[in-house]
Amino acid sequence: MKPDGGSLIGFGSSGLGGALFNAFDPARDAFLEPSFQSGTVEDVERALQLAAAAAPVWAQLPGAQRNKFLSMVADNLEAKAADLVARAMQETALPEARLKGEVARTAGQLRLYGEAAERGDWLDARIETALPGRQPLPKPDHRSMLRPLGPVVVFGSSNFPFAYSVAGGDTASAIAAGCPVIVKAHPAHPGTSELVGRLILHAVRDCGLPEGTFSLLFDAGFKIGQALVKHPLVKAVGFTGSLKGGRTLADLAAARPVPIPVYAEMGSINPLFILPGALAERSAALVDGLHASANVGIGQFCTNPGLIVLQRSAPAEQFIKNLAAKLSATPEGTMLTAGIHKNFVSHTADRAHQPGVKVIVRGKIASACGAAPVWFETDALDFLSNHALSEEIFGPSSLVVWCQDRAEMLAVAHDLAGNLTATLHAGATEAKEQGDLVAILAAKAGRVILNSYPTGLEVSPAIVHGGPYPATSDGGRSTSVGTRALNRWARLVCYQSFSDDLLPPELQNANPLGLLRLVNGQWTDKLVS
Ligand code: NAP
Repeated sequence: MKPDGGSLIGFGSSGLGGALFNAFDPARDAFLEPSFQSGTVEDVERALQLAAAAAPVWAQLPGAQRNKFLSMVADNLEAKAADLVARAMQETALPEARLKGEVARTAGQLRLYGEAAERGDWLDARIETALPGRQPLPKPDHRSMLRPLGPVVVFGSSNFPFAYSVAGGDTASAIAAGCPVIVKAHPAHPGTSELVGRLILHAVRDCGLPEGTFSLLFDAGFKIGQALVKHPLVKAVGFTGSLKGGRTLADLAAARPVPIPVYAEMGSINPLFILPGALAERSAALVDGLHASANVGIGQFCTNPGLIVLQRSAPAEQFIKNLAAKLSATPEGTMLTAGIHKNFVSHTADRAHQPGVKVIVRGKIASACGAAPVWFETDALDFLSNHALSEEIFGPSSLVVWCQDRAEMLAVAHDLAGNLTATLHAGATEAKEQGDLVAILAAKAGRVILNSYPTGLEVSPAIVHGGPYPATSDGGRSTSVGTRALNRWARLVCYQSFSDDLLPPELQNANPLGLLRLVNGQWTDKLVS
């Protein structure tokens, strides 16, 4: 399998006229073949017309058939994993083992969301049967459930070429929820994107689904992405990337004549609080654990621990000294893109000049897109008085914040903006005395972690990958990972006083799909008599 450089508009390809661009190999500092052609506004229109035609078909498609389709996409990815990984290695400089693991994770995610679609419990089906004789007023029959929104636009991320890209979590969850998808490919890995897109379209054909189920558009700049977000036929947007990009798209969507939701997963500094008891019990293990978490993927994870909060003491200073020694010995790695590398260099240079900030580690780099750990320290009072120190630096950089006492730690926690995660390391006896700190952290983050690390996200029905702004654009009311991710692409509809034969099967008396439903206040999979 080799990419040929054209957008995929349903079963067709893009028209001529869009700007050309090439993928870039950051490890070899060289452009890759072939050239990719950006979509045009005509392509956007065609993709949206096809998606709009497919939307009613998808809305009616039983969960079992959505599952069959998603599981076929997963099979296709696994069957072509070697080709996909080979191209992704060139475009991202990520190692083979990581990319193989990511393909497996992506396939697992597609199957998990497909199974959720088939099981149907995510639909939140509720039935309140009528009481015609109720006094003083009769009670009507109410039946409600989630219904798909319609065509969804997904912006693939740069840092997960599979798991958060063309067939990644946003696409898989939107399709599981019954929505056609149009992906705006990330220009950092267009070849990988095209190959995955073609495998999705094979499954569309093999399952006999409408061609508007899926399209993939390239864009050398912002024109196509913005045209998609503004198009009246688009009903929702998924995005993973920078705060600037996510916020721009959310503002564009809010300014439409008919605003639509944008689920943007953006910046996070993922604070990690280390209490004295944890250092007393396991300082060496914390050095190893934090070092591994902060450097996996050259720190290019949205869950990277970017803020380490400690109380100053001799053991804490020794801990940071030991950690700094290990960080200094960390070999450089190649960053995903020249742009991400440029940001890393300029943001770390800027942080080094902030008042009250000292560099504690500055790794050596030799190659063009290379990066090695750059860590800083500051005092809590300097941190609290300087907003710039709360901004994410994407890559292997973290800030250690020294507190005089526990009260200062609480003040730092209070001052945090929204995050995807917040972590607490505590000793065995002190953990149960941290209720106030845990309550503050739970108000600031989508996932609160005890005595573990934020990286290495498990995709499960219970996971939450979201958080208050600026971690996400929706105030942290949703998750972009796990089966609850399906809910983002649907809205509640209540059917009042409908006869059984006119209801969707999910709400019919006989419960033909065997769903777990809330019937007159009781969760049950039994029929309604
Ligand atoms: P990005 O710049 O936010 O881009 C993400 C996607 O959105 C790309 O397809 C990009 O198109 C598009 N886009 C960005 N701004 C746009 C705008 N104003 N209008 C229309 N489309 C727009 O993210 P990135 O390229 O992946 O990396 C840049 C920075 O994002 C990193 O340094 C890091 O800080 C952050 N990041 C965060 C995460 C996370 O997990 N939250 C993941 C990756 C990166 P173009 O590429 O064509 O510009």
